[in-house]
Amino acid sequence: MKKILLITTGGTIASVQGLNGLAPAIGSSELLSAVPELKELCDVDTYPLYNLDSTNMSPEQWIGIAECIKKFYWDYDGFVITHGTDTMAYTAAALSYMIRNSQKPVVLTGSQKSIAYRDTDARNNLYRAFLFACSDAAWGVQIVFDTDVILGTRARKVRSKSYNAFESINYPETAVFRDMKLVPFLPKPSFKEAPSFNTSLNPRIFVLRLLPGMKGDFFDYLISHYDGLIIEGFGVGGLPTIEPSLIEGLERWANAGHLTVFSTQVQNEGSDLSIYEVGRAAGRLPGVIDAGDMTPEAVVTKLMWVLGQNKSQEEACRLFLTPVQLDII
Ligand code: ASP
Repeated sequence: MKKILLITTGGTIASVQGLNGLAPAIGSSELLSAVPELKELCDVDTYPLYNLDSTNMSPEQWIGIAECIKKFYWDYDGFVITHGTDTMAYTAAALSYMIRNSQKPVVLTGSQKSIAYRDTDARNNLYRAFLFACSDAAWGVQIVFDTDVILGTRARKVRSKSYNAFESINYPETAVFRDMKLVPFLPKPSFKEAPSFNTSLNPRIFVLRLLPGMKGDFFDYLISHYDGLIIEGFGVGGLPTIEPSLIEGLERWANAGHLTVFSTQVQNEGSDLSIYEVGRAAGRLPGVIDAGDMTPEAVVTKLMWVLGQNKSQEEACRLFLTPVQLDII
């Protein structure tokens, strides 16, 4: 029998209704005992790491989860993490950058309704997360939710209430569940390198969502307070050139040695700065990277991870564009 460590961090799955609204309160052994069939699948130990609404999670908790997995990595065959759905895609992407080449699965799951509710999706999700973690098809950091198994670098929460809350963006799912039968699509890769952990993150990044007509009068503030900038543009990407303060501000930012990643507000198919004049104008500045088909969560967490490695502007660009767990094609 495989040995799995269940790490609990809170979320709706572990929440109860209090006077001030839903909040996590259910403990890890209670979660486990709500799905008694798990005992027939594998040996499970539990580790109650946090009990937070994932809205309250930050890079500090991502590092805490990665360090917990590092500590117990050789004692278990895989890890299941219960987590709030709201920021699960950020945590999954962050873990994908901090934990590399893991043949052992690190599986995140949660639910839209508390495990205490009669009509909950929690029991199915938890059971399927364990089914996947115990299967020979499992590897790396993945989210199991409803009937989907999704790479940690490709997952997005796309529905705020429905049970099929997550989708794999710009890449196929790793596997799906037909009822409780796992149907793998993506074969387990062959691992040539040993697993490695690198939990250095620099969270001093700013995400700028472009608006039509926006002016660039904030760049001096950004230059003195942040190390990385993500610009979520329109369509395949670019910066309005009709308003000179934006491109002039970006030029000052770039020449100060900072990194800029262009991504798009459009969910599917990604950005490409090489197409339009407005894209090329920004793309030729030093330290400007095109996120291509990456998810916004992967862009944010990869930028934090790259900046945490203290590289030169040029090396950091190269590191950002190096694919990790199929995050960029
Ligand atoms: N607010 C909750 C959380 O992210 C939502 C959920 O878990 O579904 O912790």
